[in-house]
Amino acid sequence: MYQLLLLRYGELGLKGKNKNIFIHKLQKNIENALRDLPPRKVVSTWGRIMVPLQDDMESVIERLQKVFGIYSMSPVLQVEKSLTGLQQGALTILKEVLPHGGTFKVETRRADKNFPMLSPDISLQVANYLFDQIDDRYDADLHHPQKTIHLEIRDEGAYVYGDTIAGAKGMPVGTGSKAVVLLSGGIDSPVAFWYGLKRGVDITAVHFHSFPFTSERAKEKVVDLCKEMAKWHCHAVKLYTVHFTEIQKEIRALCPENYGITIMRRMMFRIAQKIAQKEEALAIYTGESVGQVASQTLESMYCIGEVTDMPVLRPLVGMDKEEIMEIAHKIGTYDISIRPYEDCCTIFLPTFPKIRPKREEARDMEKALPIEQLIEEALAKTEVLFIQEDKRVY
Ligand code: ATP
Ligand code: MG
Repeated sequence: MYQLLLLRYGELGLKGKNKNIFIHKLQKNIENALRDLPPRKVVSTWGRIMVPLQDDMESVIERLQKVFGIYSMSPVLQVEKSLTGLQQGALTILKEVLPHGGTFKVETRRADKNFPMLSPDISLQVANYLFDQIDDRYDADLHHPQKTIHLEIRDEGAYVYGDTIAGAKGMPVGTGSKAVVLLSGGIDSPVAFWYGLKRGVDITAVHFHSFPFTSERAKEKVVDLCKEMAKWHCHAVKLYTVHFTEIQKEIRALCPENYGITIMRRMMFRIAQKIAQKEEALAIYTGESVGQVASQTLESMYCIGEVTDMPVLRPLVGMDKEEIMEIAHKIGTYDISIRPYEDCCTIFLPTFPKIRPKREEARDMEKALPIEQLIEEALAKTEVLFIQEDKRVY
């Protein structure tokens, strides 16, 4: 029944050129998100974006709920630009949004100043009409109505709507520079990835695998996580898979066991920084949260962070595991993350990892490693994949 979907974006604090970049990017991302559906022209007018519907409202909404930058959406009925048109449209919408009765009010926005009635009069006339047509299960409530029936009169037409669906909020992906995320197959890092995208950052994933100690299935899991993230990214996700086996073997052979995790992480950050520089990315995201495991104490973060001069962003830093899991469910990564395939870190996990490592000690122990050579060899064996959701081609 609805012909259009009206999208609102949060333009708070956006001015001039920034605003245009924001809207342009959002429009492109919306088009990308709808790419597997019949083509349509997405238009931006009057501080909103309008998406035509073709009997596919549910599919459109499902996709657009994953587009950052959209605050809310309303399915809209386009009606004849006359009082009768508005009255009949309002009745249809009222019955749709409150099928069993309830409280409502009518609100009008008259952008077309040539329309021959004032907004309060239109609201009143429409409300009076509605009360003639409905029974006593309905009542007016101007202060806390269950639903507001919105009437909008614009140059190009008249519109009626009564429902508002929440959007993903945040900023359109691509408005916020680039970063890399250290993506394991676990629960946390995909959530960190999602938080990066939410603020508009264009994120490239970096995964370390220890083939043949980790299986093809473990890598497949990371690919599937990227497929899920591609929906939120609105573009294919670029994934670097770094062959980490040699480095791990060398660390195990040449460094004290209790510093294994610390040094391994320092190597990950060094490689991530190289990839970030190649990608012109400005930060490294991780899924760490203070105190969650031995390698996530502040001492550990301090010791590991030494090897990179890029900002290390940890969006989950203050969250409990339960909170992270709840978000993982919401964003569609949880079920993939809990598939039981081994991660490179768990395989080489020392029995007693150092909980409070020291920078000087780590530096000392690393002297045994041919660091630059190991990094170069690992980078040479790195694969780059572009991962998109199965049914969409970007
Ligand atoms: P996650 O659930 O994200 O795996 P975790 O709770 O298992 O996190 P750690 O194993 O300590 O925690 O890893 C901390 C962070 O280091 C991860 O969130 C991720 O950003 C990064 N990381 C760990 N293992 C890998 C890997 N194999 N490839 C890429 N990044 C990794
Ligand atoms: Mg992990």
